[in-house]
Amino acid sequence: MTEDKRKKIYEGKAKILYKGPQPNTIIQYFKDDATAFNNKKFAVINGKGVLNNRISSFLMEKIEHIGIPTHFIKRLNMREQLVHAVEIIPIEVVIRNIAAGSICKRFNLKEGEALPRAIVEYYYKSDELNDPLVSNEHITAFEWANSNELEDIFNMSLRINDFLIGVFSSIGIKVIDFKLEFGRFYKDENLEIILADELSPDNFRLWDNKTNKKLDKDRFREDLGNMKEAYQEVAERLGVL
Ligand code: UDP
Repeated sequence: MTEDKRKKIYEGKAKILYKGPQPNTIIQYFKDDATAFNNKKFAVINGKGVLNNRISSFLMEKIEHIGIPTHFIKRLNMREQLVHAVEIIPIEVVIRNIAAGSICKRFNLKEGEALPRAIVEYYYKSDELNDPLVSNEHITAFEWANSNELEDIFNMSLRINDFLIGVFSSIGIKVIDFKLEFGRFYKDENLEIILADELSPDNFRLWDNKTNKKLDKDRFREDLGNMKEAYQEVAERLGVL
């Protein structure tokens, strides 16, 4: 089927979602677009989508293997993967191990400073409001998620963090921080919270263990150059190229 004939459900900054071939499935198409600072900065990085599709498919599968449910079904081709349709919870979950980005400004921390323990933060997904930091109270009071769902999200996020720290440490990479999204999925009439979206260097901060070289979207945010090469290095070290 050509791209144009399919029903487009949604186009985001880095991905396009099409209606999938079976009921309640979606095709995620990974674009080469790179955006930062709420769309203020934009570039096309040739081949980024292919790398992110590979990296994300690989990590989602690994996470599924440790018993955490994800929306991932299978990689279809260079740029596309088949996933379960979910109702996205409008929260960006950020897990931090080492200070970088917005937490440095907020608490006057030095980039690269180890945090006392992994910290889980929630941001409300809203471009209009610039994704504000929110607390459990806001999430449950405004009914973006209930307290059971939030507990699942918190526990899964820490397990994913522990697991990914291990995966990346074995290839000489430090997981500084990353963003997750979760969705509601109906399975045999039961409602389940599952991991959704993607796991790629667009949503992670990854530094080389020895040199602290940035292997993630900060290369674009901070104009460091060689963004594609950095993503490629992550993919190569993970053994997915
Ligand atoms: N992040 C993301 N999408 C966002 C905001 C953040 O994927 O809309 C990721 C980002 O790549 C980083 C982590 O979440 O790995 C923490 O980001 P931070 O809050 O420091 O914000 P930033 O400095 O990226 O604006």
